Amino acid sequence: TSPATIALPTKPTPRAPRQIRNFIDGEFVDGIRGFDKLDPVDGSLVGQVHEAGRVEVDRAVAAARAALDGPWGRMSVIERTRLLRRIADVIDRRAEELVAAEVGDTGKPETLARDLDVARAAMNFRSFADTVAAAGLDSFLTELPDGRRALNYAVRKPLGVVAVIVPWNLPLLLLTWKLAPALAAGNTVVVKPSEETPSSATMLAEILAEAGLPAGVVNVVHGFGAGSAGAFLTEHPGIDGVTFTGESSTGSAIMRAVAPRVRPVSFELGGKNAAVVFADADLDAAVAGLARSTYLNTGQVCLCTERIYIERAVFDDVAAGLAEQARRLRLGRPENPATTTGPLISHAHREKVRSYLDLAVAEGATVLAGGGIPTLGDGLDGGSWIEPTLWTGLDNSHRTVREEIFGPVAALIPFDTEEEAIALANDTDYGLAAVTWTSDLTRGHRVAQRMRVGMSWVNTWYLRDLRSPFGGVGLSGIGREGGHHSLEFYTEPTNVCVQL
Ligand code: NAD
Repeated sequence: TSPATIALPTKPTPRAPRQIRNFIDGEFVDGIRGFDKLDPVDGSLVGQVHEAGRVEVDRAVAAARAALDGPWGRMSVIERTRLLRRIADVIDRRAEELVAAEVGDTGKPETLARDLDVARAAMNFRSFADTVAAAGLDSFLTELPDGRRALNYAVRKPLGVVAVIVPWNLPLLLLTWKLAPALAAGNTVVVKPSEETPSSATMLAEILAEAGLPAGVVNVVHGFGAGSAGAFLTEHPGIDGVTFTGESSTGSAIMRAVAPRVRPVSFELGGKNAAVVFADADLDAAVAGLARSTYLNTGQVCLCTERIYIERAVFDDVAAGLAEQARRLRLGRPENPATTTGPLISHAHREKVRSYLDLAVAEGATVLAGGGIPTLGDGLDGGSWIEPTLWTGLDNSHRTVREEIFGPVAALIPFDTEEEAIALANDTDYGLAAVTWTSDLTRGHRVAQRMRVGMSWVNTWYLRDLRSPFGGVGLSGIGREGGHHSLEFYTEPTNVCVQL
């Protein structure tokens, strides 16, 4: 048989890689080329991602602009909130598919994806539906010295076409944290998910359509940052603002990209977060809480603790407790309910974290737990696994204690006084989150308020009220999102003044 007569398969064979496409103007579309997405659990192929080029990004921005000028732009707040709640319901109904998408891309334990990522995605839509339904704006009855009177009131309008750029650590949670308020406020959106986690955003596009969101309101383009979809989007003259979560250096590149056209930005960036443990703390609760804040999601949460300052009188006890907690973590397959800890997101990220394991030792650290790459067997050794690690013997002068590592690692450092603890915690260019562990609540309030961060927890960590302000200072970001703070970014008020 000559090759010309062989029938080509009309459907992909079961072994063909899954295709992860861009979503533009209500349709899934191909990219300019494909790149492989690998499973960090064992290095196997998850699927092939269609990278968007300039043309696809142009089309996505044009679709978002057209949708803003279409029926979506005239929809009432009541209709929009109804739609947001319907989206949350479809997320709940398709939760297990989303869990599978998130786990396939990140390797995180299924229980974590179900209880944190996917549950919060639905909650984000419901919470911002409540926020926008209750939102009001200032009005003033103005009296002038000459006796004239006027009514001043403001109306909110959407910011316009918003670029939403998100990282890989909590892909669906962080995407919906921005998408929900952007939609609640009436914007249209072009999303650029991380190249490491394309799947849940692509599935969400399908869910939004299923819930009845008009075509073009949300578009998803895949690809990388510089020289790819991320840069094409942020440099695009058709976008009205950028909301971004990711590394501080990327935030800086995006600021430069939007500077010529002076677009507003909302940035949730990196952290090098401190915890402070006073000797009067409930030490069992502190150790359990610190283990969670150091190791949740394999240390890949922007809020995770990487510096732990411990009052000298209890240093040895807390260090021993934390080392014990580190040894109890179970690295393993995501579907195993006993697994507490997944792999890092990729081999490239593991290489970065591993370089800090070496650097810590070169800087004089004593390794209290972990410190290397584990051998797990069971087909897992092609994955990007790393040991949960603790160091003593470092101080704030060391790079390991100053630079964000974004892995399951922490340096334990003693202190003697409250003033010293606050000074050490605040001695950083970042300023995202802090935790204070103490049984003296007066001290708890006092210390928490002096932390130079956006979020300061006392005797807990990552306990969130979605109405409260979320963001960072210094290298950790610009602006706050959450509740009405989000509406302030995603809307432009127009003040109307009427002489009476
Ligand atoms: P990253 O900055 O490398 O990438 C984030 C996103 O930006 C990705 O989609 C990427 O493709 C895109 N991007 C990269 N370069 C770009 C460019 N020049 N122009 C436009 N887009 C570009 O971050 P990451 O490695 O994916 O995520 C980890 C980082 O995110 C850590 O620093 C972490 O602290 C931070 N983070 C912060 C928060 C927060 O709320 N403050 C939350 C989660 C993660």
